[in-house]
Amino acid sequence: MTGKILVIEDEPDLAMGLRDNLEFEGYTVFIAHNGEDGLDLAVKEQPHCVLLDIMLPGMDGFDTCHAIRKKNIRAPILMLTALSTEVDKVKGLDLGADDYITKPFNLKELMARIRAALRRFEPVLTGKKRRKFKVGRATVLLERSMIQIEDEDIPLGHYETQILEMLSQEPGSIIDRQQLLSEIWGLDNEPMNRSVDNHIVSLRRKIEEDPKSPRHIITVHGFGYKLVK
Ligand code: CA
Repeated sequence: MTGKILVIEDEPDLAMGLRDNLEFEGYTVFIAHNGEDGLDLAVKEQPHCVLLDIMLPGMDGFDTCHAIRKKNIRAPILMLTALSTEVDKVKGLDLGADDYITKPFNLKELMARIRAALRRFEPVLTGKKRRKFKVGRATVLLERSMIQIEDEDIPLGHYETQILEMLSQEPGSIIDRQQLLSEIWGLDNEPMNRSVDNHIVSLRRKIEEDPKSPRHIITVHGFGYKLVK
């Protein structure tokens, strides 16, 4: 699938390098060097995927991510970060980001993540997702990549939506991590394992009344996860 990719990155060399490589792969590329311009371009061009640097002058990547989601733009957001602490990752996921690439990144891996993100975004674009269900006090709206708790709308990241979709297909049955990795990320490599954990943590923070003792997104030690509605 080809698509439109928005790169929000203040380092000119890196932005240019990304543009060249992405155009070579057949994507249409838009570049912004700060969050404000990035937000404007996101609204104007409606990209299919956003690569978003965290350390930006002015509005940083976290605020930009939040602002993009507020505009109801649901394209997957991959954050580019020199920071790699779990806290920062979870913070970004809470704000509606989908994935992280830690700098300096491997170009092949970045391309694989972009392809996976676009593949996962396609059913959203073509309106194939129309499922709605309750999990505890939350109403999950897969089609809109969000949950509602009381009157509050809480955006879900792309992978969070995918994880919930998979877990909800057969409630109560155990989905193993490898299955999540290969079906959602299309990858089998070990380093991505932490990424699944981060998304589970962030989902729990959104859905569970007490994320520390989850009652809906349950870890089955040694196997994986299950959903209890
Ligand atoms: Ca930067």
